[in-house]
Amino acid sequence: MSESFYQPETLAVRAGAVHSQFGENSEALFLTSSFTFESAAQAAARFIGEEPGNIYSRFTNPTVTMFEERLAALEGAEQCVATASGMSAILACCMGLLKSGDHIVASRSIFGATVNLFGGILKKFGVETSFVSATDAGEWSAAVRPQTKLFFLETPSNPLTEVSDIAAIALVAKKCGAWLAVDNCFCTPILQRPLELGADIVIHSATKYLDGQGRVLGGAVLGSRKLMEGVYGFLRTAGPTMSAFNAWIFLKGLETLKIRMDAHSANALQLARWLEAQPNVGRVYYPGLPSHPQYQLAMQQQKSGGGIVSFEVKGGREAAWRVVDSTQLVSITANLGDTKTTLTHPATTTHVRITPEARAAAGITEGLLRIAVGLEAVCDIQNDLTRGLNK
Ligand SMILES: *Cc1c(COP(=O)(O)O)cnc(C)c1O
Repeated sequence: MSESFYQPETLAVRAGAVHSQFGENSEALFLTSSFTFESAAQAAARFIGEEPGNIYSRFTNPTVTMFEERLAALEGAEQCVATASGMSAILACCMGLLKSGDHIVASRSIFGATVNLFGGILKKFGVETSFVSATDAGEWSAAVRPQTKLFFLETPSNPLTEVSDIAAIALVAKKCGAWLAVDNCFCTPILQRPLELGADIVIHSATKYLDGQGRVLGGAVLGSRKLMEGVYGFLRTAGPTMSAFNAWIFLKGLETLKIRMDAHSANALQLARWLEAQPNVGRVYYPGLPSHPQYQLAMQQQKSGGGIVSFEVKGGREAAWRVVDSTQLVSITANLGDTKTTLTHPATTTHVRITPEARAAAGITEGLLRIAVGLEAVCDIQNDLTRGLNK
């Protein structure tokens, strides 16, 4: 399929599909660990790369390849490599592109496990990370060292929906010869395409919106063929690759990505506006609200605000927990990107492992709740929250 010719919703349904001799219309699930050869000579040719084709599902699998090509078309990337989870995508990116002695500059407002990967595990292997503000490009520039190889950010951030200026930070990265990687989990390529804004690498936790129905874990790294060669080399050898079954789930998930993202965004905007009008709610964090500090940037960089809203319940932890415990509909869970609305108290769950001082500095207060708005009727979600807010 010619990628530039078709619209995103068409690519999401069609790109990458390869059909077998049986003429199936829906993409087939190839549940096989290995592939057979017609002769010893063919096996030899496959192994030295003289003949293209599958060998073993840790290397390539036709269902996984279909998913990779579909996501690459959506992000406008030359190549995509699929991984077992979002965290293994970030790990593969670092292991494939960095070596001991290299330096990372990363936004402070990134996924907790990513902070631990950079600040803990990679540090043990001689890769150091400086954490800087998500919203101040000047801090990125000031943190650069001669050894800086990788810039890493997530926008909008979790849970406070800070918006980083991808194009501005990409310019800083280019000037010092570093690659910029953007974790595009919250927006997906339907709302934001980081490569077009100057990023070199896009990371996904496919577990979230790409699946969209909270079923399986997966991830992806996307970028130029040259960069992905190193990432693929690590994955093929070390093994955290995507299972064929999960790839098949994600292929089906991608087919509805456009309509789901549009619906998540529309529901989230409606809920955010309503929350702003509630007497027992303090600040509401949502990039689609004019009250958001980076509203202008968000509306330039993203097609819409996305599905994640955070808000401050007046009265601290007790009041926030009362809202959580009074719900009868929304799911109390830390996951996001599901058709089902999920509600999280970050200070005691996703961000409990960082010090209270660091939490306060990051703006994650005891009254803060994060809601990943699903596809239920907004009035039902409102009624569910009202019970606890008005107690
Ligand atoms: C969930 C998440 C990850 C990690 O993905 P897993 O699939 O859980 O490994 C990384 N980044 C962001 C922004 C996430 O929300």
